[in-house]
Amino acid sequence: MSYVISEECVSCGACAPECPTQAITEGDDKYVIDPEKCIECGACADVCPVGAPHQP
Ligand code: SF4
Ligand code: SF4
Repeated sequence: MSYVISEECVSCGACAPECPTQAITEGDDKYVIDPEKCIECGACADVCPVGAPHQP
């Protein structure tokens, strides 16, 4: 399953440049992950200060 970003996201932007497949973009009120691009590496979760990226 692709990672998803929860409502905890504070839109700091730290995760996007860490994603090897450019799956993360800024959404309307939080960052979002394109499930078609996510390879489940966990890099976004490692850098997120609030633990928003997770696997459902
Ligand atoms: Fe990108 Fe890896 Fe996070 Fe998926 S788990 S969105 S591939 S950084
Ligand atoms: Fe949101 Fe975490 Fe990404 Fe920052 S690192 S934009 S809080 S998901």
